[in-house]
Amino acid sequence: MNKRTILVVDDSATTRNILKKEFIDAGYEVLTAENGMVALSMLAWMKKKPDLITLDIDMPKMNGFEVCRKLREEYDVRKNSENQPVPIPIIFISANDSLENRRAGFHLEVIDFVTKPFQPGTITKIVNKILNPKQQFTGLHVLVVDDSSSIRRIISQILRRLGTRVTEAENGLQALSIIEERTDSFDLIITDYMMPEMRGDEFCRLIRQKDRENNIPIIIVSAFDDKNLIINFFNSGATDYLNKPFIEEELYARLQSHLQVHAYSRQLEELNQKLRFLAERDDLTGAFNRRFFQKHLQNSFAHAVSTRQDLCCLFFDLDYFKQVNDQCGHAFGDFILSEFASLVDNSLQKEAILARYGGEEFVALLPEIYFQKACRIAEDIRLLVQEHIFSQNDISKQITTSIGVSSLIAHKPKNGEELLSMADQAMYKAKTNGRNRVCS
Ligand code: GH3
Ligand code: MG
Ligand code: MG
Repeated sequence: MNKRTILVVDDSATTRNILKKEFIDAGYEVLTAENGMVALSMLAWMKKKPDLITLDIDMPKMNGFEVCRKLREEYDVRKNSENQPVPIPIIFISANDSLENRRAGFHLEVIDFVTKPFQPGTITKIVNKILNPKQQFTGLHVLVVDDSSSIRRIISQILRRLGTRVTEAENGLQALSIIEERTDSFDLIITDYMMPEMRGDEFCRLIRQKDRENNIPIIIVSAFDDKNLIINFFNSGATDYLNKPFIEEELYARLQSHLQVHAYSRQLEELNQKLRFLAERDDLTGAFNRRFFQKHLQNSFAHAVSTRQDLCCLFFDLDYFKQVNDQCGHAFGDFILSEFASLVDNSLQKEAILARYGGEEFVALLPEIYFQKACRIAEDIRLLVQEHIFSQNDISKQITTSIGVSSLIAHKPKNGEELLSMADQAMYKAKTNGRNRVCS
């Protein structure tokens, strides 16, 4: 089969080289471009378009969004059997993980969004899922520890047939230092029992002491068939053992079974993470939801009291929002809510959280920010919103917001609930004083 081609577009030579190496190791052809112009001109002359593109967002002259838009307009020519256009899969890569960027990306039918710095293997895993959905073990990474290079070679060959990446080590010490240096963990370890420096069971015990490596399947391979020894393997934390000499089919079957279980548990873990994200977020705006905010408020309040730091709360309510809906339609109202959340989120410090509290009400919690500073931040946001033109599908609209501010140190609330209700009352004061203002 012809190799699949990936086009890497990034102005950083370091990122280009990291991705190129990862993709080549995973069996892809790689082309690179140092900016959007180069990428577009490459696409213009390429007869067979790339199977996937990774696009940096922050590039000089032409950012990733512009490149993506142009590419979708001019070069996205692949058609499926029903003659409908099939967009080239694009993965955005950026240091700026803002809601705004994510939203803009998804409007351009971008498949995924990865933030820099990324862990080794992360992007290859996503690419494999897109380009080889049937190869269930691609992206998994196995460590093979054996002092015999010929055994290592046999095992590695079988693993490559299963589609995994393989790293080899000659002994336990070398394997441990490889594990130490890596930022992500292996998906399976297969180790010999009798090795110089350290036996396989000793190596296994040491691995099990590490938090991160606690759940990796470990298979010990041994020429000894003594029952006590086998019991010792399991006591040292091995998941399975295999007798030498082994037949390749048996090893293949065992590896397949362990990798399958491990891949399922990884998928479950990823699914859990996604579910957690969904459970904590508001669908429309991507801001945190009210339930998450309530929980977070209690914890942040307790933390601020115990560390004697200030904690401020901002309460936002959009002005005359009913009229906006009446004049511009509910869908446009939704768009404003979503864009408003991005504007506010980008104006807050990283540690702050923004939640949608109700229909057109938002709350933000600002840890370690003193009262006057919180008022200044609120005033900056008020001005930013007042100046912003919300524009979509030929409708443009300007809106304002009323903001209430409360502070743990300045207002001495008894608990998180009271801090929140003080900000709510201050917001009402802003409404009765004429709206589009900050009150405390
Ligand atoms: P003010 O706050 O300035 O007193 O006036 P208002 O018109 O904003 O006040 P009110 O709280 O009475 O109205 C809020 C409106 O927000 C009512 C509802 O139509 C609208 N709203 C609430 N949730 C959503 C939503 O999810 N999408 C849209 N488009 N509108 C929403
Ligand atoms: Mg309102
Ligand atoms: Mg309201």
